[in-house]
Amino acid sequence: MPYRGRFAPSPTGLLHAGSLVAALASWLDAKAHEGTWLVRVEDVDQPRCSPAAAHAILGQLAACGMQSDEPVIWQSDRSSHYQQALNALATQNTLYACRCSRSTVAQNLAKLGIEVTRHQETPYPGTCRHLGLPLTKGHAVRWRPPMQPLEWHDRRLGIQVQNVSETVGDFVLKRQDGFWAYQLAVVVDDGLQGITHVVRGEDLADNTARQIVLQQALGLSTPVYWHGPLVKAADGQKLSKQTGAAPIDCRRPVQQLQQAAKWLGLDVLPAATTVQAFWSAAVPVWAQRFGIR
Ligand code: GLU
Repeated sequence: MPYRGRFAPSPTGLLHAGSLVAALASWLDAKAHEGTWLVRVEDVDQPRCSPAAAHAILGQLAACGMQSDEPVIWQSDRSSHYQQALNALATQNTLYACRCSRSTVAQNLAKLGIEVTRHQETPYPGTCRHLGLPLTKGHAVRWRPPMQPLEWHDRRLGIQVQNVSETVGDFVLKRQDGFWAYQLAVVVDDGLQGITHVVRGEDLADNTARQIVLQQALGLSTPVYWHGPLVKAADGQKLSKQTGAAPIDCRRPVQQLQQAAKWLGLDVLPAATTVQAFWSAAVPVWAQRFGIR
């Protein structure tokens, strides 16, 4: 099957050194496979996203020589696809309405000392599972994953096992405020875009089992996964928009790319002076490192 990869930024802020590493890895992997590289704007969380940030990200990518091989997809335009997937799941009797707010669940978990990481909805204690609340606006929609553990393989991290129903519980596909949840949107779009390879940061690895069980329920194929190293600040914390990481400096794209390449362990690259020279040197190094060609 021809390689199709993607970079899927959430436009809640500009690209910083950490998100550039994810973009670079996904681009290198696609190009080393002589594949197609797509950009998808993941703006389903509309209260936190802005079109200005999305356009700025596309500009930052372009400054670094990264352009989507097909028209960019915006998740905010794709509600009907997510609704269709939800309808398909409804016929399997695995959905129910939930009135617990996200913050109530998060607060209860915080009291128990459980930290909720990126895109993590739960562990949800099943409070609303048997209440039979109507699937209408004002209620979130949760999905009951299968009870069995799932084993999946990551090209970098190796074999992973997670029992989604135990460690995550029933998770949200549509939020109480009516917006689609990341897990559903990402699965539907990876499926409809025919994504064969997902390359992204390791902080998202924990979401993968959830995404695979959802793909299986929707009859979608599962891509190959590679979760890359996270960029840490001097204090050891992961760089993130939430902690105010600085946007990459588009006036010096080669330097930014060289730095990102170092995080990926590609410091054997000869010092390039142009973006084009950087890419010409980097793609074969990536291909060789992963035995691609
Ligand atoms: N949009 C997601 C994020 O920025 C990444 C999704 C993905 O690569 O699967 O957290």
